[in-house]
This record gives sequence, C-alpha cells and structure tokens, in this order.
Amino acid sequence: MSEQLDTTPTFDAIAFRQQLHRFPELSGDEVNTAQVIATQLTSFGLKPIIGVGGHGLFCVIDSGKQGQTTLFRADFDALPITEKATHGHVSQHDGIMHACGHDGHTASLLKVAKQLSITPPAHGKVILLFQPAEETGTGASAMINDPRLTKLPIDNVFAYHNLPGYQLSQIIIKDQTFACASVGAMVGLKGKTSHAARPENGVSPTNAMVDLIGFLQTLPENYRDAFCLVTIVHASLGEEAFGIAPGEAKVMATMRSDCNQAFGDMKVKLAGKVEQLALQHGLEVEITWEEPFNAAVNSTKHVELVKSVARHTHLDIHELEEPMRWSEDFAEFLTKWNGALFCIGSGESHPELHNPDYDFPDAILDTANSVFLGLVNELHR
Ligand SMILES: [Zn+2]
Ligand SMILES: [Zn+2]
Repeated sequence: MSEQLDTTPTFDAIAFRQQLHRFPELSGDEVNTAQVIATQLTSFGLKPIIGVGGHGLFCVIDSGKQGQTTLFRADFDALPITEKATHGHVSQHDGIMHACGHDGHTASLLKVAKQLSITPPAHGKVILLFQPAEETGTGASAMINDPRLTKLPIDNVFAYHNLPGYQLSQIIIKDQTFACASVGAMVGLKGKTSHAARPENGVSPTNAMVDLIGFLQTLPENYRDAFCLVTIVHASLGEEAFGIAPGEAKVMATMRSDCNQAFGDMKVKLAGKVEQLALQHGLEVEITWEEPFNAAVNSTKHVELVKSVARHTHLDIHELEEPMRWSEDFAEFLTKWNGALFCIGSGESHPELHNPDYDFPDAILDTANSVFLGLVNELHR
C-alpha cells in the first residue's frame, strides 16, 4: 500500500502580496518580481513561459479538451514614489513603491493559478499572464507582439484594477469604453531671438503660441459624439529677460478621449495646426508624443459575463455612466481580442492610487479570485 502524499501546494496570497510590496521594482526593471512569480507558478506544477516582451511571463493551463481560450492579465510594476506608511511590509527599496496595487493584482492571479493547478478548467485553455511596465504604457504592447502569445487563438481577455473611492469589493464596470485613450503632446516652436527694442529683426513664436493654445482649448468642441478632453499642462515662452524678444516656445498638453477614432483625429488635427503655424510664422516646429494609451473598449458580451458572475458571487455592481478618464494599457489586449476590463472597489475612504500612503486592500484578493474563477466556470465548463 502506497502512502498518500499531499501534493496541494501551499500559497498564502496575502503574505505573497506583502512580500512583493516590500521589494517593488520600477517599470522595465522587474527582474526579481518576474523571477518570484515564475518560481511560484512552477511550485504549483505549472510551466511559465518567461521573457515575454521584457520581463513578462505567462502560463497555459490546458484541459486537454476542445473549448475556448481565456486570458487573465495581472500587472506587476511599481512607481517612483517614496512610501509613507507604518505597516509591517513597507517598501525596502528607496523611492519606489507599489502605489497602484499591482502587487495585489499579481497575488490574486497567483491565487487563481493555484486553484486551477488543482482543478483545471473542464474545457479549453486558460492563460494566466503577468505583465511588466504598465505604468509607462509599454508592457502590454511588448507582450502581445510576442509570437509565443500571438499564435494562441484567444477568445476572451479579462483584467481588473483595484479602485479607491468605491465600496470595498464592489464591481465597477461599463459597456464599451471603460478607460480613455490618452497621450501627452509636447510642441516646440523655434524662431529667432532679437533685441526687445527691435523685435522685427527676430522671428518670435509668440503669436503662434497664443494661436496654438487657443486651438488646443477649443479642439474638443469638434467632437460632439465623443468625450474629448485637452488639458494644457505647461507653456513657456522666451527667457525672463527684458532685453530679449523670444526665439522659442514650448506648449505641453494631455489629450484624452473615450473614442479611439476621435482621439486619432485630434492628433492629426494638432499635427496639421502645428505645420500650418510653422509656414505662417516661419518657425521650426517639433511635436513629440509621450505615454500613448489606446482607449480600453469592452465588449458587451464580456461585460454581461462579468456582471452575471458578480451577481452569482453576491457582489455589488456599479455601472459607470461615463468612462474612467485615466488610461490602462490593458487597452492593447482589448484592441486585439474581445474582453473586459473592470475595477474592484478598494473602499470608499481608501487612499488614492499613486499616493504615498496607498496600500493594496488585501480583502479584495478573494473577490478577484472568485470573479476570475467564476468566469472560468462560465466559459470552460
Ligand atoms: Zn498606476
Ligand atoms: Zn495600476
């Protein structure tokens, strides 16, 4: 008679989350975090595929039977913020902290990994994907361009973000656009300085700058059917010297929209305007686009699935009337595959994301776990 071995892997999601919190790594530098996740997946008997789009990794849990393929994504990068906290798992890395809760997103997906390693889906395949570099908007696109991922026929993609300001464990969701497209535009205008008493001898960008600011302020008015927002975040002209007529100007603005098409059109219009100003005023011009994100557009079917699972799990559902104004690079997955991004409430008075006193609420690890497993049950029974 052979002795029965207990092969159930032990995994404490809270302890794991707090351990990640102690050792945060910035976007693109997540070497150790990726290693720790890979080790944990391996301990569950899973086979992580590593080095996907930088430090990204994923594993496939195959039922061996025909069916759909569903991908769940968690991010794992931290931010250049100095933590102000007194809890026992405060960041040990100076000036870096998990201020967006990506430590929690990852811990909850590992909890799902453990469960699926014991009870695999009945049909099809489940992909558990761990993504670096979300905060810089580069991680998702780097991962989804890797052929090891693109060769898989993916039917459904899901991810969640924790969200302070909402009731703990509430499911926050919206059909169609959930989070806006956004980009930072930096416009440089270059002319020629001259003596302030002889401005006609120089090429001043002043009129062009004023025109450009007015243009940006009214740009969203062209789009009646979409939410569009332009915020001028910085503008500078010339030097702080009374003797010099300015030769250079800079205008920085963020652009946002819930519609990828309107968003693209705003960018084209801005580029056209800047070209026109160059010709009209004899200036050298330059536009640089920073931190670009697509809009995260949910599919109706997948939103309904999340809501149905939330109802069965007795979770409160909050349907947004307007999309979140912030951006999430899970949008890249949603432009390639159908799926849904949703949020889980972190508590009404929880410190805001990216604040130095923020800490992921461990109570919602179970919430995320049960929603994800509920989706597996629905899609892979
Ligand atoms: Zn963030
Ligand atoms: Zn985040």
